Amino acid sequence: MEFNKCPQCGSFYAFSGKMCPNCATKDSQKIQKLENYLDNYLVPDTLQELSCSTGIPEKDLNRYISGNDKFSQLYKKFSI
Ligand SMILES: [Zn+2]
Repeated sequence: MEFNKCPQCGSFYAFSGKMCPNCATKDSQKIQKLENYLDNYLVPDTLQELSCSTGIPEKDLNRYISGNDKFSQLYKKFSI
């Protein structure tokens, strides 16, 4: 069986996909939180403020925003 190494936590997993199931779950919860926030509030001026308001670390926000067409508006706004 092929194992992949998770880029987030470094653990090995036997599934296809970009990260281990554990991190994928955490990621989808954080993305959900970000989407909820965007539905209810205006986008702050900086990525830092968005991070404070959502409790999602900036490096995660960076990853979600740059890797997801859904957030292309944020991508432009913060020029990541
Ligand atoms: Zn992981």
